[in-house]
Amino acid sequence: MEQVFVKNYTLPDLETWVESIGEARFRARQLFRHIYSRRIHSWSECSDLSKMFRVQLEFGAHLNALKMVEKLEASDDTVKYLFGLHDGQFIESVLIPDPPRCTLCISSQAGCSFQCKFCLTGALGFKRNLSTAEIIDQICQVQQDQGARRRITNIVFMGMGEPLANYASVLQAIRIMVDPNGLAFSHRRITLSTVGLVPQLRRLGKESPVNLAISLHASDDALRSELMPINRKYPLPELLSACREYPLPPRKRITFEYILLDGINDSPKQARELVRILHGVRAKVNLIPFNPANPDFGSGYRRPSEGRILAFQEVLQRAQLTAMIRQSRGTDIGAACGQLVARSSG
Ligand code: SF4
Repeated sequence: MEQVFVKNYTLPDLETWVESIGEARFRARQLFRHIYSRRIHSWSECSDLSKMFRVQLEFGAHLNALKMVEKLEASDDTVKYLFGLHDGQFIESVLIPDPPRCTLCISSQAGCSFQCKFCLTGALGFKRNLSTAEIIDQICQVQQDQGARRRITNIVFMGMGEPLANYASVLQAIRIMVDPNGLAFSHRRITLSTVGLVPQLRRLGKESPVNLAISLHASDDALRSELMPINRKYPLPELLSACREYPLPPRKRITFEYILLDGINDSPKQARELVRILHGVRAKVNLIPFNPANPDFGSGYRRPSEGRILAFQEVLQRAQLTAMIRQSRGTDIGAACGQLVARSSG
């Protein structure tokens, strides 16, 4: 029997698989319940399955796709998890408790190929795409580790990698996340953050109503191309026209992430330009003052002064654009935006 990772499968896929090994179709639903509602640690806990079937599962079906290697807790309660993959790669996930919410930031790739200048993950280069099981298992294992202490309420694809560059596995993972028999999250509690791969973005709009966040970080093409090389392929007019046409559910808006870099993209003039280019987009803006990252990452960028941050925000607010300043969490454990490098602290 060929070995499989069961968390790669949606319920219909799992039904096909159980039938292929000679079991009844309804067994798939039982397995889903054991995996996602009961959060079993091993197949031996499934006492309602025949001994024969359990033996088949032990030998042919991997329950877990990740191995937890390290867990670091920050002074602000943020928890960073380091996971090992079966081929020796590593990824990170970050739990951000903010009662009543508890958000898990998950990775979609090991490393990243997009080389955004301010991002430590990008500086490390691309290793490979994650499978659906490796994406789903981040949620399962963190929830298992937290137990009754904290329940994950929200998922954000903002960890390592560009989710739309791993489209098929990410979409399959979202299907399992929103399946009432699976992880049972509402679409409204899932956010996908992208640098703006326009063809995949248009496809996502048709296929899944999850929340969308765009990493913008500049209001003109010259600067954005310097900070984010992908802008040369999909420049701002093309990206923003895809955003204008994005089929948003009523009352929903696209979040634009804007890392504020001192003296680079944080002037009032650039804020006014941001207002101009977002005209006609149902938008809100998250301003993220830059985290001076790891000392061995010589990006040379600095965090702007409080005065400059507030002045930038004020320009947006005066133009009736919702603009929140997002304080970084978990900076002391390298868990903040752009700090994920999947490296053990030991
Ligand atoms: S910001 Fe995102 S897309 Fe850009 S290099 Fe970092 S992980 Fe990749």
